[in-house]
Amino acid sequence: MAVLVTGATGFIAQWVLDYLLKENYQVIGTVRSQEKGDKLHKQFGSPSNLSFEIVKDISDTEAFEPLFKKRGKEIDIVLHTASPFHFNTNEYEKDLLIPALNGTRGVLNAIKKYGDVKKVVVTSSYAAITDMVNSGDGSLVFTEKDWNPATWEGCQTDAMNAYCASKKFAEQAAWEFSKETGVSLTTINPVFVFGPQKFDEDVTSQLNTSNEIINGLIHSKPGDKLEPDFHAVYVDVRDVARAHLIAFQKDTAGERLGLSNGRFSSQGILDILNEKFPQLNISKGPEPGKEDTKPAAKFDNRHSKEVLGFPFISLEQSVYDTVAQVLKKEGRL
Ligand code: NDP
Repeated sequence: MAVLVTGATGFIAQWVLDYLLKENYQVIGTVRSQEKGDKLHKQFGSPSNLSFEIVKDISDTEAFEPLFKKRGKEIDIVLHTASPFHFNTNEYEKDLLIPALNGTRGVLNAIKKYGDVKKVVVTSSYAAITDMVNSGDGSLVFTEKDWNPATWEGCQTDAMNAYCASKKFAEQAAWEFSKETGVSLTTINPVFVFGPQKFDEDVTSQLNTSNEIINGLIHSKPGDKLEPDFHAVYVDVRDVARAHLIAFQKDTAGERLGLSNGRFSSQGILDILNEKFPQLNISKGPEPGKEDTKPAAKFDNRHSKEVLGFPFISLEQSVYDTVAQVLKKEGRL
């Protein structure tokens, strides 16, 4: 029984691989090049139950076909994490919407054609649930039943909107496939994911998109204003990885597992940094120690937490582990 993890080089996927290997699964990861696969294999200590296949660009709807032709019969479970998550483009269709949608359709079509897959888990996002336009409305409560109302045309105003909508269209395609084929599907819908990189050596001056929120604050200067000033929700990457395993180990068919462990703000993160790492000479923020009372729509994910049944990592711990790893790499801890 093998588990296929698409986008194996990703921040979240590397932790998923780690948890799968610890539980002795046969794991196949997709990577965009041989070099990336070789590096990751070595980083995990070259285990015999980990192998890689190359899938160069998920924008091509046939990109998964060679892999499934070759190894489809081995694969019981597919964890589809690959999707572009960045805001560095103004070609929204080409760089965000199409790869997200075609990647999901591509892997699902290959399953249908060549595979014998029992369970599909798609890494979607809270972005597929929430309505960005009303995120500052404190009277709103979103749950796992809600959908981002964005449209394909309307979302192409900026990269953030287009990314959020890309997650909605990709997830919708997955549910349509599940309805059509009867393949068991669960989606994982995390909010901003913080936490350490799986391997210290992968800490670079720029981190993955969600951790860049923390990285920017670590490298702030005294007196710096909070720009951008985040008031949002977080979850730790290790909890996201655990959820991917539970999604196929338990009967979670049909669930959208909303992963959030509550609010954070840029000021709140600075407060943690200044308390835990007093040696850093960084911004104190405009309102040190003050509770974040800015109105914001809530995400009620009690149902998902009940299904998952494990306690989530606190903001303090998640931020501490992220920052300690960066400072260690920079020789400052
Ligand atoms: P990363 O950017 O670290 O990982 C993205 C992965 O997708 C990488 O393996 C990347 O390959 C691969 N990928 C991207 N575009 C393509 C493409 N065109 N063809 C082939 N492979 C591609 O992101 P995260 O780990 O943070 O995110 C993983 C998943 O989780 C995504 O689906 C994202 O939308 C979702 N998510 C993330 C959140 C977060 O806060 N981090 C929150 C909610 C959802 P390569 O490394 O070679 O570029």
